[in-house]
Amino acid sequence: MKQEWHKHFLTGTKPLQVQSAIAVLIIACPCALGLATPMSIMVGTGRGARADVLVRNAEALQALDAVDTLVIDKTGTVTEGKPRLIATETAGKWGAETVLRLAASLETRSVHPLAHALVVAMEAKGIQAASVADFASQTGLGVTGNVDGHAVVVGNQAQMQQQGIDVSALIPDADARREEGAGVMFVGIDRQAAGLLAVADPPKPDAKVAIAALHTAGMRVVMLTGDNARTAEGIARQVGIDEVHADLRPEDKASIIRDMKRKGARVAMAGDGVNDAPALATADVGIAMGTGTDVAIESAGITLAQGSLTGLVRARRLSQATMRNIRQNLAFSFLFNGIGIPLAAGVLYPAFGLTLSPMFAGGAMALSSLTVVTNALRLNALNLR
Ligand SMILES: [Mg+2]
Repeated sequence: MKQEWHKHFLTGTKPLQVQSAIAVLIIACPCALGLATPMSIMVGTGRGARADVLVRNAEALQALDAVDTLVIDKTGTVTEGKPRLIATETAGKWGAETVLRLAASLETRSVHPLAHALVVAMEAKGIQAASVADFASQTGLGVTGNVDGHAVVVGNQAQMQQQGIDVSALIPDADARREEGAGVMFVGIDRQAAGLLAVADPPKPDAKVAIAALHTAGMRVVMLTGDNARTAEGIARQVGIDEVHADLRPEDKASIIRDMKRKGARVAMAGDGVNDAPALATADVGIAMGTGTDVAIESAGITLAQGSLTGLVRARRLSQATMRNIRQNLAFSFLFNGIGIPLAAGVLYPAFGLTLSPMFAGGAMALSSLTVVTNALRLNALNLR
């Protein structure tokens, strides 16, 4: 009896063709193989949700593992996205309060985060908003409209150029503010330069640490922004990003990403705004800030619920761990089938007179599925901090 332990699962009888066929079918039932990927994804997705990393589609989680370039939006992504008015400079015949009142009244119609800062500043000073007519927004440039009978333009330098307003007298002031990392909006009233409004939007508290961790992980981090180069570089310096593309229009963000992909980079894009949506959709992986717009969230495969940049680090770790788990599961499943199927088919019979009993085949199959599920569940204990 001692030497015949194997009789429990290997029978010495001549293999019945039907019996072998059943054993082969049971072993070859692709349960473990079929479970391998979805189980890891499911558990990984659940683990992510508990760490503020919301995975919308599994492809994004898989693609993030291979990403080598992280493209990141500035306002609302690297920065708080809650800018404050820090200075008002005047250049023409209008006083600081008038410049703020006309510009801020116009910006009450705008959805731009810098616009909101002006409105908040105006309200904080107890200034009543003026009536606005003919409001128009020029994406990536600024806004125009008629305020209290004045033709008012608020926007960047390109906007002023396009409107034929000479702001050269304001440039030294603008440059000084931008060096501090502030954003500058020029104000034109009745086709003349009236002043500038400097709005600062500080980086998120965890930005520097997160960027450093991404660099350590071997990622190239590139910041894209519609903002002025000086402002962008001011922020980039503060958080340790060395590659910046500034003065971009929304379509430029997507085309830069397309270009990177053409050169062979695997690109993840993180952003929060409506203007980031095309870029989020173009990147291999789109990552939206949960604090951002619905359009950005809809265009992204992954959302960072609290919009913190350490979420990027966690998402990347989660992706790597999930992919590693999938590879383990697949390797195990192939190994199981690779050994089990020949055994069940009777490969040992000619030499040893042994075949696999269908009963044992059933037990082994259940065990293989259990192994895959158990391995996937280990992702629940993954440390993402
Ligand atoms: Mg943004």
